[in-house]
Amino acid sequence: MTEESSFRGQITLDGPSGTGKSSVARDVARKLGAAYLDTGAMYRAATVAALDAGVSLEDKVAVTRAVSEATIRVGTNARRELVTVDGVDVRERIRGAEVTRAVSPVSAVPAVRRLLVARQRELVAEADAVVVEGRDIGTVVLPEATLKIYLTAAPEVRAQRRAGQLGVTAPEKIAALAADLRRRDEHDSRRADSPLRPADDAVVVDSTDLTRAAVVDRIVDLARSAVGAGERS
Ligand code: C5P
Repeated sequence: MTEESSFRGQITLDGPSGTGKSSVARDVARKLGAAYLDTGAMYRAATVAALDAGVSLEDKVAVTRAVSEATIRVGTNARRELVTVDGVDVRERIRGAEVTRAVSPVSAVPAVRRLLVARQRELVAEADAVVVEGRDIGTVVLPEATLKIYLTAAPEVRAQRRAGQLGVTAPEKIAALAADLRRRDEHDSRRADSPLRPADDAVVVDSTDLTRAAVVDRIVDLARSAVGAGERS
């Protein structure tokens, strides 16, 4: 058996936006030969369904109906992203400003969360090894996970990284990105249902002064020791 394929279990990766969570989660999954689930993409796809249904985002019942009536598919292959709503590829659209603005209120609707969490658990159950990325994975979705990581970084660093990804250089635009990150963090941390917070047994990794490769290596090492410890006990 190669080292890459020896990991069996679930790794949860939670934390606020702009910490490099998605790239790190995908890299860890590739290194461990594990599946990868981006739960943020599921909430973003649900937001597309609500927007396209033309319902008010304040109307929780209408939002829930729109999400439950749509066919949302999110793939679990770390090498090939797949996100569709009613058969339409929405990979680009879910990263756009319209969806990013609307996703926090949609994801705060408890019935929407129940629908998506059930789907997340089904997808996870299909994989021997999986890395699941989100906000509430270690606390709510997979409380018995093999390894829980909470990834953070200083807010200014997170805004700079997001700017780099989007090719933004103007200081006022970077300031606007920082404001958007703060607004989403606030909303995600304060909501009543499944707020963003580290699980009690999560390992907190601060990526402010670490390269992406260093963060990935740290998590892969932790995953291998978590499995080793499980086998010894
Ligand atoms: O991770 P990403 O930035 O794509 O997530 C988009 C939004 O989806 C978050 O700001 C949050 O409101 C919501 N989300 C959530 N629970 C998750 C994953 C994402 O509420 N597990």
